Amino acid sequence: MRILVIGNGGREHALVWKLRQSPRVSEVLCIPGNGGICEEATCLPGDPKNIEAILSLAHQQQPDITVVGPEVPLALGLVDEFSRRGLRIFGPTQAAAQLESSKSFAKEFMQRHQIPTAHYAVCSSEDELRKSLGLFSTPVVVKADGLAAGKGVVIAQTKDEAANAAMGMFSGKLLGVPSACVVLEEFLSGEELSFLVLSDGERVAPLVASQDHKRAGEGDTGPNTGGMGAYSTDSLIDPPMVEWLLHHVARPVIAGMKSEGTEYRGVLYCGLMMTARGPIVLEFNCRFGDPETQAVLMRLESDLVEAIEASIEGRVSEGLFHWSADVSCCVVIASGGYPGSFISGKKISGLEQAAQLQSVKIFHAGTTRRDGAYYTNGGRVLGVTARAGTLKDALARAYQAVEMISFEDMHYRKDIGARALQSKT
Ligand code: AMP
Repeated sequence: MRILVIGNGGREHALVWKLRQSPRVSEVLCIPGNGGICEEATCLPGDPKNIEAILSLAHQQQPDITVVGPEVPLALGLVDEFSRRGLRIFGPTQAAAQLESSKSFAKEFMQRHQIPTAHYAVCSSEDELRKSLGLFSTPVVVKADGLAAGKGVVIAQTKDEAANAAMGMFSGKLLGVPSACVVLEEFLSGEELSFLVLSDGERVAPLVASQDHKRAGEGDTGPNTGGMGAYSTDSLIDPPMVEWLLHHVARPVIAGMKSEGTEYRGVLYCGLMMTARGPIVLEFNCRFGDPETQAVLMRLESDLVEAIEASIEGRVSEGLFHWSADVSCCVVIASGGYPGSFISGKKISGLEQAAQLQSVKIFHAGTTRRDGAYYTNGGRVLGVTARAGTLKDALARAYQAVEMISFEDMHYRKDIGARALQSKT
């Protein structure tokens, strides 16, 4: 079987790595891949946002299954186009992907289906914004409606700050593209949790839970990023909580989407805040998370291809996945300056030695390979991932590997999983 993966980040490297482990897979192709992926897959140049170009490459290559990593091609309707041409592809259609691509769609959907979510107001003009802001206390959360790679959320400490952020989203100054509407949301506090399920449009199978670290700096300070690290342990949520989340969130979403004629197949990522009044949905993503996927797939012991086929063919069952009881973590190494401006093209050293450490896998995100050497090529550069019997050991392994790697101005958080370690030991 030949599998095509679309994307070029750490998540896609983890997908390629796991898919290759299936005895049924003879070749993994990737468009466009990165320096590390190209060591493990046949990389083909192409822009994941260019649907026509991807279709033409898929037509030439005739993969048995295509797996889409990032959200943009899903939101642009790649799954619809593949399906129309009889090509097997894993993921939701454009209409179903609105759960991620439109915050206002997701909020209104959750309200229609009684799925727990923060109080909110959708505003499409300055006038509406000023009126709605009066209904919230501070801090208040301001969200751009469309896709913003994790950068479309501002937690405003004052109403002036909220109004400025919203106006920046309307005008396009804040994100580079104007937002037709913004969502104001009640600020929630608690621990964040990433709860993912695989669905075939009717049934769901939960993946193991994980926790992401979104802020750039230690102690959860600094700007929001695409994710600076993650860990996955069974102790994040107990079986009754998994059942609660399936009953109150995952199954109602899948049933609600089906009842509205937008059947949802693929991975549904539920970003939750575990608050004093119970779990509340912050957002949905219509694909695997990054860097949670790196940590989660490190614990997967069953065949990912089987799971993906079950989603496509309508035979997902709850016991679909087999997981290791081990704990895993992923520490992201980023370019200095990320998520702001940064300089690419820095030579990376120490990768070969670090990769030799036991139970460590280095997933590449923003890298290229030239003349046998690796260079930085993006904000998030590497996801150093490790697995062990305890979180303490997994973190020690990952950081040992991180310390063997170097490039100019490299930046990483030294406190991935630290809060969990403190609360459990
Ligand atoms: P989102 O893209 O909606 O997940 O938001 C990105 C990040 O912003 C989340 O992971 C949270 O850290 C934070 N966030 C989003 N919504 C809220 C909220 N209502 N209250 C507190 N923090 C939030």
